[in-house]
Amino acid sequence: MRYLALLLLITIIFSCDKKEEKKEVPKKVEKKEPIIKEYGFIFNNYKVVRDTIKSGDNLGLIFDKYKLPDSLRTFDVVEKVKDSFNPRMIKIGKPYLLFLDKNHPNELQALVYVKNPIEYAVIDFRDSIHVSNKRKATSLKRRTIAAEIEGSFSETLANAGASPALASRLAKVYEYSIDFFKIQKGDKFCATIYERFIEDSIYAGVESVESTYFKHRGKVFYAFPYKLNPEQNLPDYYDENGNGLKSMFLKAPLDYFRISSRFSGRRFHPVQKRWKAHNGTDYAAATGTPIKTTASGVVERAGYTSGNGNYVKVRHNGTYSTQYLHMSKILVKKGQYVTQGQVIGKVGSTGLATGPHVCYRFWKNGVQVDPLRLQLPSAEPMKKEAKEQYLKYIEPLKKELDSVMTTKFKE
Ligand SMILES: [Zn+2]
Repeated sequence: MRYLALLLLITIIFSCDKKEEKKEVPKKVEKKEPIIKEYGFIFNNYKVVRDTIKSGDNLGLIFDKYKLPDSLRTFDVVEKVKDSFNPRMIKIGKPYLLFLDKNHPNELQALVYVKNPIEYAVIDFRDSIHVSNKRKATSLKRRTIAAEIEGSFSETLANAGASPALASRLAKVYEYSIDFFKIQKGDKFCATIYERFIEDSIYAGVESVESTYFKHRGKVFYAFPYKLNPEQNLPDYYDENGNGLKSMFLKAPLDYFRISSRFSGRRFHPVQKRWKAHNGTDYAAATGTPIKTTASGVVERAGYTSGNGNYVKVRHNGTYSTQYLHMSKILVKKGQYVTQGQVIGKVGSTGLATGPHVCYRFWKNGVQVDPLRLQLPSAEPMKKEAKEQYLKYIEPLKKELDSVMTTKFKE
């Protein structure tokens, strides 16, 4: 809040400055101004101009509009800063600030290029030329949030005062257990998260999730990120009993979809106009949507038939195979090894299809089955010793979630 007020003030001060520029003799405003400090500069001591990089901009062009101190030439400056400030890293749309001499507003004292909310570069002319790449101080804050689903998940998060970006994180945590397109009013969640703040005041997003609880259609799903092997890059997620949340198969070959036709022994075929079995699940999505292989394996077939259109079949092991039909584009080759979640093609409507969708087919022991009705294998279970350690680790985290849920929802 305080930061916002400051920002507003800065904007007001600047707009005042701009108006003053047009006048012949600028009038001094003798008012007590709050001290504004950012990027290591006390703004009050300069005339500060904020701008963004436009198409065609370069350092030379920006410098040329101002007078550089002493006898520095634009060319020399650009040459000199090259080592620590690659001029090519300047990107259109990125903000920068110019610190001008308050008494000689055409004299450039420093330029701050803002790479992202945390990192910035300073080209300082005040005492010869110095270039420094800096980072704002950041800190992590931990908190537990809980809410009942109202509207979409991201709306619910926003109402709970959390970043809507947390929605996609939690969708990833639960990608094997909960279909986030089916979450409904009455579902509840609770999560202990770490959030990053820049200079203690500016919110910079969710850093990590320490523990979560999700109640979907009356069923409770806990998830705790944990590294069984300390060397693994990213943690895996486990439930309150140490069972992995990951399963051998993804729930669907698309991230965002609508099931337009389920596996059934008898359905009226929309193109052939007759009743026949539908040995697959149709996921409707826009043409070009990436299609992911639901499990790792080897591409057994990648080709075209008049019925399937462009299609890919993946053999996962001796028991399971999956097939993806009607692609607009195939992105893998026969014999290629693919890992779970890898994009193997794009949604289309080639072959016998009325609109863009992927027909997902699933074989178990050579027989086509409905994966939505199968109890599919999950990842390997934890060993006894590892499990004991894990349960000890999650005990206080789980208690914390439970107590927040009890306080908030009396459950
Ligand atoms: Zn189909």
